[in-house]
Amino acid sequence: MRKLALLIVFLARLGFAQQYDLVIENGRVLDPETGLDAVRNVGVLHGKIARISTEHLAGPRVLDAKGLVVAPGFIDLHQHGQEIESQRVKAMDGVTTALELEIGVPDVGEFLRAQEGHSLIHYGTAASHCAARAAVFGTPIPSHAGDSRQGTLEVLPKSGIATDTPATAEQLEAIRQRLAHELDAGALAIGMGIQYTPGATRYEVIEMFRVAAQRKVPVYTHVRSPGRGEPGSSIESVSEVIGASAISGAALHIVHINSSCLQDSLECLAMVAGARARGLDVSTEAYPYDAGMTVINSALFNPGWQQKLGIDYAQLMLPDTGESLTRERFDELHASPQSRKVIVRNNRMEIVDSVIRDPLVMIASDGAVGHPRNAGTYSRFISRYVREQGTITLMDALRKITLMPAQMLERSTRAGRGKGRLQEQADADIVVFDPATISDHSTYQKPMEPSTGVKYLLVNGALVINEGKLVSDVYPGRAMTGTRQP
Ligand SMILES: [Zn+2]
Repeated sequence: MRKLALLIVFLARLGFAQQYDLVIENGRVLDPETGLDAVRNVGVLHGKIARISTEHLAGPRVLDAKGLVVAPGFIDLHQHGQEIESQRVKAMDGVTTALELEIGVPDVGEFLRAQEGHSLIHYGTAASHCAARAAVFGTPIPSHAGDSRQGTLEVLPKSGIATDTPATAEQLEAIRQRLAHELDAGALAIGMGIQYTPGATRYEVIEMFRVAAQRKVPVYTHVRSPGRGEPGSSIESVSEVIGASAISGAALHIVHINSSCLQDSLECLAMVAGARARGLDVSTEAYPYDAGMTVINSALFNPGWQQKLGIDYAQLMLPDTGESLTRERFDELHASPQSRKVIVRNNRMEIVDSVIRDPLVMIASDGAVGHPRNAGTYSRFISRYVREQGTITLMDALRKITLMPAQMLERSTRAGRGKGRLQEQADADIVVFDPATISDHSTYQKPMEPSTGVKYLLVNGALVINEGKLVSDVYPGRAMTGTRQP
């Protein structure tokens, strides 16, 4: 009998010891949805947060989070760096989900297949209106999804007939069909870089919103035009997409309102707030930098760009060499079939700061290799606004980079409900960081310099950063796909 009792005690202890796959102990747990801000232990089991408690929790792996913040992993709705080097710097910046929702990749199915089993963090994409249009006009954007792990995937069309010409009725129907096909393949939304397809009429934009409304997915959009000159001001451009949302019923997310509206950013924000007050589903985001980056042979640089952007050649810089452009060099690069990135210095930090402080605004990086926002957006956001300026509380900062983007994702997939929350049953996408030291280090000269201050990062319960260093050869990232997909 005694032996049996001992065996039972032993088994119970063994069972107790293995109750959780991993435990994060004594951290300051913050959850923007419930408002929890207290020291707790977190038990992770089978990729989920199984328990949050003041009680001692046990497991084979225990991480000490004393003095550190334990928060939901950051969600980047809008970025372009899908390859592993970008995923690594994003993980070091606290990001557990990084999605291409502004433009969308040229071929959704191919992209999802290429990323499967090779991804450090969760991934997903919009269906690309730019790419659908390019394909229908007979100049498809090359889709080398197989290479997406080596280099940033090309998503923008070169300026030409496919970007600058209105579509015929037949072409419009073909674009609709291509977008429906891409949504069937797992896209989370429709991405519209309207500024990159100036030939798309207002009617075409409304029609694309109608496709999104029928499929119950949002439209993410880079609006038609920045600047103050009418016609074609940023105010007109924001009106266009809010109107299309109202007409169609599709949810609308306006990307990087900071760089689309520039000196009129606060007025554009007031327009978003007004639309929401009238019951429309409209949201927006910004990134914490005063320069942008885009592709130099795109339609964004069609004639008139100086007036629109309020800059000249000298405010354009090649990220790889630091070369400032002259008229001759610009003409050569804009005409080239080869797409090259260019840094655009056209904003002021005072404007960016006042946009980011607004409670409506989420943070998204718009990151890709070449701009420091790819590696530094989230650490910079927390260090600048919470620690240095003291203009946003830590809880409100976390809301802008976890809960709000997760709620946006819920408009595309039920899986969004498991993201952006530090709650029992939520996905174990967790960041553990030091709020006193978290810092960005990427610059325009060294854009891929990783951030510091994230001590642990869990993606689907798997440790991706341990003791501030990347764990090698783990690929726990999974696809996030749209409503039609399981
Ligand atoms: Zn953009």
